[in-house]
Amino acid sequence: MPELPELEVVKEVLQRRAVGRTIEGVQSIGGGSAILVRSLTQQRLEEAVTGAQIAAIERRGKFLVFTLKPDVQDSHLYLAINPKLTGRLQLAQPAEKRLPKTHLVFSLSGGHQLRYVDQRTMGQLYLAADLSHVPDYAALGPEPFNVSPGEFRERLTPYRGEIKGVLTRGECIAGIGNAYADEILWAARLHPYRKRTALTSEEIDRLYAAMQSVLREATEKVRVEMGEAIHREPRDFMAVHMKSGEPCPRCGTPISLIGANQRITNLCRTCQPGGLIKGM
Ligand SMILES: [Zn+2]
Repeated sequence: MPELPELEVVKEVLQRRAVGRTIEGVQSIGGGSAILVRSLTQQRLEEAVTGAQIAAIERRGKFLVFTLKPDVQDSHLYLAINPKLTGRLQLAQPAEKRLPKTHLVFSLSGGHQLRYVDQRTMGQLYLAADLSHVPDYAALGPEPFNVSPGEFRERLTPYRGEIKGVLTRGECIAGIGNAYADEILWAARLHPYRKRTALTSEEIDRLYAAMQSVLREATEKVRVEMGEAIHREPRDFMAVHMKSGEPCPRCGTPISLIGANQRITNLCRTCQPGGLIKGM
C-alpha cells in the first residue's frame, strides 16, 4: 500500500514528467473506469479529461490530486486518486507491454502514457469540481510534517484505543498506513497495542520524533530506489515491517509477527515491550 513516502516521491516524479502535459485520450481496459472511477460531476471520465491540461499534481494524505484545466476558460476539475492497498501509477512508452491488471491508460502530449494498475481493483479515482465532496478527503487530519509536537499531542487526545490504530487513522494524522506505523512504533520503542491512554508524555514525544525521522528518511530512500519507476514499491530498507523472523536491527531479537493478511503487525518484543497479546 503506498503511504506518505511512496506517494510523495510519485508526486515529485509526476510533477516533473506530467505537469503541463495535455491528456490526449483515455483508454479503459476491461471495464476499468466503471469499477474504479466515481464521478462527482455530471461527466464521464473520458469526456471530462480528454483535452484537459494537467495544471498541478499534489499529495494529500494517501491521495494524489491532479488539477485539470479543461479546454474551457477558468474552469478546473480535480482527479483525486486514492490507490488504497493495490493501486499503482506507471509511466510508460506507448509500445511498452502493459502490466497485468492495467485498468486505465492516459495518453499524454509528448508521447508518454500514465497508466493505472491495480491488482485487486481496490483503488478509487474521484472526478470532482470540489475536493470537499471526495469521501475521506475533507476530514483528513494534518500532514505529519506540518504538525508541531503540541498539536500532535492534541490530535491524539480524542482517540483512546491502540496506538497503532490511532496512527493509521487519516482523520487524526494523514498519510500513515500499516507499514510505516510499524516502522514508527519500532523507532519509538512502543508496542503497537499499547493504548493511547496508557502512553506517558515522554512516550508521546518519542512517538512524534520517530514519526518525523522515519517518514523523512524513508522518503529519501524511496526517492533513490524508486527512481522514475513509480509503480514499484521499494521497501527492503524497512527495519521491521515484513521482516518476520529476521534479527531486529537494534537488538538482534527475531522480529515477531501478529495478525494476518494485509493487516499484519511486525514488532520487536524486546525493544517494544508490553501490550496485550492477541491474534497469535
Ligand atoms: Zn529489538
